[in-house]
Amino acid sequence: MDCQEIFEALSEYIDQELAQAKCRELERHLTTCHNCRVVIDTMRRTVALYHSIPCERLPDEARLRLHKVIKLK
Ligand SMILES: [Zn+2]
Repeated sequence: MDCQEIFEALSEYIDQELAQAKCRELERHLTTCHNCRVVIDTMRRTVALYHSIPCERLPDEARLRLHKVIKLK
């Protein structure tokens, strides 16, 4: 798996909908790739925030922030 594939699988991973084999690949990648660790940390915080604050505008803003993080690589 490269970073692009990780990004594509992230939302499923966070929602725990990713197939186990892919999960393991993703986690293995995370141990070697600092950039993806930062992205997944940001995404987890975003999801936690989203679940704690029922606000319809938040997901869009969060997604934009996330895209900025991803483009930093
Ligand atoms: Zn990566």
